[in-house]
Amino acid sequence: MIRFSLFGIPVEVQPFFWIVMALLGRADRADSREDFLAVALFVIAAFISVLIHELGHALTGRKLGGGYASIILTSFGGLAMNQGGRFTRHQRFLMIAAGPGAGFAFLLAILVTLSLIFDSTDVIAFASRHLFGQGIPFKTFELMDFLEKKPFIHFFLADLLLINFWWGVLNLLPIMPLDGGQITDIYVKPQRRVFLIGLVAATAMSLFGFLKLGLYPGFFFGYFAWINYQNMKSLNWQ
Ligand SMILES: [Zn+2]
Repeated sequence: MIRFSLFGIPVEVQPFFWIVMALLGRADRADSREDFLAVALFVIAAFISVLIHELGHALTGRKLGGGYASIILTSFGGLAMNQGGRFTRHQRFLMIAAGPGAGFAFLLAILVTLSLIFDSTDVIAFASRHLFGQGIPFKTFELMDFLEKKPFIHFFLADLLLINFWWGVLNLLPIMPLDGGQITDIYVKPQRRVFLIGLVAATAMSLFGFLKLGLYPGFFFGYFAWINYQNMKSLNWQ
């Protein structure tokens, strides 16, 4: 177990975090030195990104509601907690939104930094290819030539883009306990309806995952569908 403190907020990284991130980085298929290095880079990119996301929650929560903030990185990502803080509904919304917000801001900072070094059209072309599988044409080949010579910087940048964009977007789906589900929970009553929305969205995403994205996303959302179903069953319509 790794423990450290960042901006006065205690952070605990559980061993399971590294295992799940390594599996998401395709550690099961790695069979060469280069493959293992690529997995290690993915894990580092995930660690930095999840930490920035949780810091967004924790720092905003501490600033708005006081209390004692702490962060745990665990199997399914991260958790930012705030004990003893007092929040209005609007402040709770801001605290939850600050997690994905921090990730998107980090993504933007990476793209702006790249644009200071390389042609900005090329940076957009590079990002859109990695994020959406297609994009606008490159203007020059400086960025791609540079990345071809430095494949590990290429992997690392691609991982950071993918994680901070796609995990951020998926995390905003209205599924408990994702951030999108927590935001739904602030505004939708009764709470049983929140879990019903989560069940429907997670089931749809699980099917989409199995059909289009692969086993892990399928199981991941399937697990969330089950959690939402269990919670819904335990509540009555009020
Ligand atoms: Zn979050």
